[in-house]
Order: sequence, then structure tokens, then C-alpha cells
Amino acid sequence: MTTTDTGTPCAGVAAGTFLSGPGPVVDFGPGAVARIPGHLADQGARRVLVVTDRGLRAAGVVDAVLAPVRAAGVAVEVFDDVRGNPAVDVVERGAGHARDLGMDAVLALGGGSSLDAAKGIALLAPTPGARADGTGTPPVAGLPVVAVPTTAGTGAETNGFGVLEDPATRQKVYCGDASVVPRVAVLDPELTHGLPAAPTAATGVDALVHGLESLASRGRDPVSEAFAAEAVRRAWAWLPTAVGDGSNPRARAEMLVAAHLAGQALTRSGLGLVHGLAHSLSLHTGAVHGVALAAVLPEVVGWSLDADPAGWARAAEAAGLPGASALPEALAGVLDAVGTRVSVADLGAVPAQHEALARTALADPVTRNAPRHPSSVDEVVALLGRC
Ligand SMILES: [Zn+2]
Repeated sequence: MTTTDTGTPCAGVAAGTFLSGPGPVVDFGPGAVARIPGHLADQGARRVLVVTDRGLRAAGVVDAVLAPVRAAGVAVEVFDDVRGNPAVDVVERGAGHARDLGMDAVLALGGGSSLDAAKGIALLAPTPGARADGTGTPPVAGLPVVAVPTTAGTGAETNGFGVLEDPATRQKVYCGDASVVPRVAVLDPELTHGLPAAPTAATGVDALVHGLESLASRGRDPVSEAFAAEAVRRAWAWLPTAVGDGSNPRARAEMLVAAHLAGQALTRSGLGLVHGLAHSLSLHTGAVHGVALAAVLPEVVGWSLDADPAGWARAAEAAGLPGASALPEALAGVLDAVGTRVSVADLGAVPAQHEALARTALADPVTRNAPRHPSSVDEVVALLGRC
């Protein structure tokens, strides 16, 4: 994750020092899950901890994906304790489990929560007593990770950090290291066909916001801009179809690619205040990440437009809009179309909580790259009052 300002906008073009960093090998296409045994063999994996959630296991997806892995003679143990907005203790418990069982690789299977938890587990597993609370990186490299996303949203398969909740401090913490960047990302759109409309919308909104915030981030560079613009173009065109017709193979494939590209973008650029406020809302209300984003998206973008006309113009262009000023209303329209146009009050946040919500958002490192920085807690409280 980039949280420093590496790209000073230069006549509308992000300037700075940038390199295309190493990322996962991507195996994309219908049926790609059948090639997981080969990818694990390439990592020398004989004993694999599968990190997932109970819903996916109950739906039969975990067994279906693991059948060829087991048939290949790989020893498999399933850790399915991951919930939405995973907490640090789940990661520490999973890491202890992997260590006790002598696992030599981690297969991350599920949505962003499972992928984030899996990267933390892989990182902590070789180091007894290591903490997931963001207070330090273990001295040894993590176990190799193969990531298999089952939602088109976070793009968590693109990078080596997980976003976790620390109940002790009521803050989001970032747990990760280059050693747990997934070695392989298996992008099989058929895995997403069974996802119901509501989570398809929430995760798809996440991918769209990653692209939008990346384009207006203070940390952007021309490479992140290319990834982000293409992510926005695809998500804008295909999210409503993916939500309305979940078995549409083109829409599912386009969204999986959009989420991956947006993940590549945000890993380079960082995000902004939409994510800062959404993290805070999830911490204080338990809201699903994508729905929390939706609650503040049009208002925060509108509030930020004048701070970065070039960045928002690029976002509008990717969305096929005539200009940046059209973004807030168009975003509200997209959220309406996919059934996620909600208010902060709809999530259960009452005005008396707004100051605490604002303080948490301002303390979140993800807010640093916002194009417009709030000058005070009161300014964020006023903004929340309009969301
Ligand atoms: Zn997100």
C-alpha cells in the first residue's frame, strides 16, 4: 500500500518515481480452478491451510474447489472461522493453527475478508507469538499464498496486506508484507455466478470506488491511473448487469477483471476519504464494507471535486460522463440502480455518533491520500450530516 505522496500532480499528469512492482501471476478464465493443483505444486506445497468462511463451505464451494487438490495428494486443512470485517484475533488463531499443523502454504478462498485474513495468517504462521495488530512485521517471510477470490470486489489478491479490525483500539489495522503477496491469483468468473444480487452489488461498488478514489488519490502515478481508469470503465458498464442477471458470463468476467485492475491500482496509489469514512462506519455499526462506501460516496466525491479537477475529470471520462461535475448525481444513479443507495442513518449511525465516526476516519491511514483533507473534525461531522 502506498500512503506517501509519490505523485505531485503536474499540469494534470501525476509525476514522481514509479516502477511496475511484482504482483501475482494471474490465471484468468472459466474453469481456472481446475489448475489450482498445478499452481500449488509450483510452490512446492504439500500441506495447505485453506482460509475461507462457513457460508462458502455450506454452499459446497469449498469442497468443489478442493476436490482436484485432494485428488492430487495434497494434505488439506480448512480454517473457516473468517467473518466479514475480520478481526486480529481470528488471524492470530489461524496462524497458530497453520503452525501447529506444519502447513507449508495457504490457499485463500473467498471474498476480501477471507483473502485479507489469509495473508495475515500466512505472514504470522512461521513466527510464534507474532501479532496481527499492525505493531510490527515478523522477522521471517510468510508462507506462500495462492488466492482464489469468489467475489468481484476488493482485489485483495493483488497485494500483500490485509485490512483487519482491532476491537481493542476500535481501529482498522493493516497487516502485511511483500512475502505474502499472492504468488498466483486464480480468477475464475464461474465462482462468482452463484453470488446473490445484494453481495454482488456491495462488492462491485467496492471495486468501482477503488478505481474512482485511485484516480483522485494523492499517491497516484501514470500506471495506477491506467489500471484505475480501465477498472472504472468496465465496472461502470457491467455492474448493473452483473447485479440484475447474475448468470451473465460476460458481466461476471468483466467485473472480476475490473476488481483485479482496481486492486492493482489502489495497491500503488492508496485511496481516500470515502474509504476512511466507510472503515469507520463498519467499525461503529458493523456495516458491510461496500454498503458503507455507498452511504458516503456521492457526497464525499461532490465535496472533493474542486480539490482535484484533473483526477475527477479522468474518473468522469472513464465512466463516459461529460465532466467531473456530473459524477455525484451519476454515482447516486448507479447506487440506485444496484439497490445500494443508503444513508448513514440507514446503517444505524445516529448524529450523536458522528463525532466519533469522524475521529476514527481522520485517524485511518487510508484517508491520507484523499484529494481534499478535512481541516477539522467538525468539517467531517458536517459532511456526515449530508450523507
Ligand atoms: Zn474497499
